[in-house]
Amino acid sequence: YAEGRNATRSVKTTCAYCGVGCGFEVDLQGQEPLRMRPDKSSQSNHGHACVKGRFAFAYVNHPDRVRSPLIRDSIEDAWREASWEEAIHFAADKLKAVQAQYGRQSIGAITSSRCTNEETYLVQKLVRAAFGNNNTDTCARVCHSPTGYGLKTTLGESAGTQTFDSVLKSDLILVIGANPTDAHPVFGSLLRKRLRQGAELIVADPRHIDLLNTVHSQMPLHLPLLPGSNVALINAMAYTVISEELEDAGFIAERCQDESYQRWRTFIADDRHSPENMASHIGVDAERIRQAARRYAKAENAAIYYGLGVTEHSQGSSMVMGIANLALATGNIGREGVGINPLRGQNNVQGSCDMGSFPHEYPGYQHVSDESVQKKFEAAWGRELDPDPGFRIPNMFDAAIAGQFKGLYCQGEDIAQSDPNTQHVEAALRSLDCLIVQDIFLNETSRFAHVVLPGSSFLEKDGTFTNAERRINRVRKAIEPIAGKADWQTTMALSDALGYPMDYAHPSDIMDEIALLTPSFAGVNYDLLEEKGSIQWPCNEQNPEGTAIMHSESFPIGQARFAITEFVPTEEKVNRRFPLLLTTGRVLTQYNVGAQTRRTPNQTWHAEDVLEIHPFDAEQRGINDGDRLLIKSRVGETSLLARVSERMQAGVVYTTFHHPLSGANVVTTENSDWATNCPEYKVTAVQVEKCMSE
Ligand code: SF4
Repeated sequence: YAEGRNATRSVKTTCAYCGVGCGFEVDLQGQEPLRMRPDKSSQSNHGHACVKGRFAFAYVNHPDRVRSPLIRDSIEDAWREASWEEAIHFAADKLKAVQAQYGRQSIGAITSSRCTNEETYLVQKLVRAAFGNNNTDTCARVCHSPTGYGLKTTLGESAGTQTFDSVLKSDLILVIGANPTDAHPVFGSLLRKRLRQGAELIVADPRHIDLLNTVHSQMPLHLPLLPGSNVALINAMAYTVISEELEDAGFIAERCQDESYQRWRTFIADDRHSPENMASHIGVDAERIRQAARRYAKAENAAIYYGLGVTEHSQGSSMVMGIANLALATGNIGREGVGINPLRGQNNVQGSCDMGSFPHEYPGYQHVSDESVQKKFEAAWGRELDPDPGFRIPNMFDAAIAGQFKGLYCQGEDIAQSDPNTQHVEAALRSLDCLIVQDIFLNETSRFAHVVLPGSSFLEKDGTFTNAERRINRVRKAIEPIAGKADWQTTMALSDALGYPMDYAHPSDIMDEIALLTPSFAGVNYDLLEEKGSIQWPCNEQNPEGTAIMHSESFPIGQARFAITEFVPTEEKVNRRFPLLLTTGRVLTQYNVGAQTRRTPNQTWHAEDVLEIHPFDAEQRGINDGDRLLIKSRVGETSLLARVSERMQAGVVYTTFHHPLSGANVVTTENSDWATNCPEYKVTAVQVEKCMSE
C-alpha cells in the first residue's frame, strides 16, 4: 500500500471497524495517510490485523466526504452550503421551535458506536441537560442491547467477562450465533490457534461457518439450529446438565443466589425442556444436543462466545440469560479460559453502552430513576434532570408517525439503511420537522434531513474506544478534521447554541468528567492510558490496574442470579406463502452498511449482496448460481443475486446488508426483543423466486 512512498510521521491509534479494537500505527505524509501497520505493542491484537483495518482506510480522504455543513428548510428543497455558525444556529433554532410547539419530549438524539466514548458521553449529556429529557439511544439498540439487559440481570454487569487472550486457556469453545473469522477476524485467528492446539469446538449456527473447517485434533460439533430456536436449544442443554447431574454444585452454592437457583432448577428440570421434546423446534437431533451439553459441562475450562445470532431475536435477552444460566450451572465463570464473551460488532458498542447512551441509564449503567444518581448528575451538570426513561429508537419512530416526536439529532448512524422495516423508518423520518444528520458521508438517512453537519473520521480526532473485552484504547488525531471540527466539538457547539454551554479543551477533559461520575471508570485518565497502553474497566479504587477477568471472587450483585427463560416461538412463522426463513450476517471484507468499506479497495471483493440458498431449495425453484432473485416478506420485497451453497441448510436462506441497493432491511420485520426492542433481524419468513425479467 502506497508502495515506495516514505512516511514523514506515524501516529498510534485504534481501528475504526469491529469490536476487537486492534491497535495500528498510521504512516502519514502530511495530511495523507499512506498505510496502517498493526501495532505489535497493542494488547488487543499483538501486531495482527485484518483486511478491513489494514487496507480499508481510503474512505477518509474520499471525494464523497461531506466537507461543509448543509441546510435546507424542507426535504423537498436542494441543499445549500452554510458556515458552521449558520448551520449550528439553524439546527438549534429548529430544535427550539419544535420543543416550543410540541413540548419537551418531542426531540431526541441517536448516537453511534463508531464515535468515541467522549463523543457519545457528550451527546447523552446534551439530551439530558440541554434537551431536558432522556430521549437518547444508540445503535447498540439494534445489536447488543439484550447483552446489556441479560448480563446485568444475571451477573450484575453489562459486559463480557474475559480478555481475548483468555481463549488460549479454554479446553472447549462454544460459539453461538457468531462468525468470528468474518466479523472479528483477528480474534477469529486467535480462536483458530487454540483449536489447532486441541481445544474442542461446538458451533450453534444455522450456517456452516468457516471456523468449522479449522484443521483440528477433534471433530467439531455443529448444531445447525433453525433461526428462532436459540432459547429452546440453551434450555435443552441446561436440562441435560441438570438431569444428568453435571452441574457444579460447589460453585452454585458459593457464588449463586440459592432462591433463584432453586426456582430455575425446578423450571428447567421440567420434561418440556428435554432435548427430545425440543428437537422439533430446534431442527437438531436430540442426541447431538445432549452431546453438546455433556461436552460443555465436562470440560475443565469451557468458554462461550456469541454474536448477533444470539441478540437479534424476539428472545434475544432470554437467550443471553440462558447462556448465563448454563455458564453458572457448570461453574464456567470467574477464571481464565471460561466465561461469557459477547463479540461486539462495532468498535465502540461496549463504550457507547457504558457512556449512558441508553434512555434509562446514565454512564456506568446508573438508572435515571435512582434519586441519589440523579442528584449526583444534577449537581455536576447544573440542570434539573428528568427521572423518567426516555424513548428508545423504535419508540421514536412510532411517536414520530403519531405526530408527537418531531426533532432528531442523529450522529454517525444511518438508521434508514440499518434499522428494520425500511418503509416504517422512512415514514417516521419524513414526518420530522427537524432532522440533523452528523456524518462523514451523505447517507440514506440524510435524504430526510434538514441539516447535515460534517462528521470526523477516526483519524481526525482524539478520544477512546472500548472493545469487546472492556479494553479502553486510545484514538489519536493523525490529521486535522477535514471539515474543520471533530464530532465532540460539533456537539459542544450545538449545546452552546441551545443555551447550555459546554467547556472542554480536549477529550481528556471529558474523560476526567466521566471518571468523576462513573464508578467503574473512576480510575481512568489519559495519563494512565498512555502509561499502560490500555485499561480494562472496572478501573477504580478497588481495581486500580483495571480488571482482566471479571467476577473472579464476587459479582457486583453479590451472588449471581439464575433467570427463568421460557421458550416462546417467534411470531415470524413460515407458511405456504413464505416458506423459507431468511437470516442475515456479514462478510470479511465489508463492514455493516458499507458506508466506509464501499469507498475503499475492499469494494471489489464484495460488490453486491447475494442470497445464499441450499441446492435443494434452489432446485425446487429452478434457481441457478448468479440468477437474479425476488425476495418477498410480509413487509416488503427486494432483489438479490443467487449463490447456491451447501453452507446453508434446506429451508434457510442468508444474506448480508452491506449495500443500500439490495436493501435487505426492506424485508426484515419490526418484531423485536421483548425486553430491549432489539430487532429480530435474524428471522424473516420469505418467499424466493427467480426474477422473470432475467
Ligand atoms: Fe479492525 Fe476488527 Fe480487523 Fe482488528 S479485526 S483490524 S479491529 S476490523
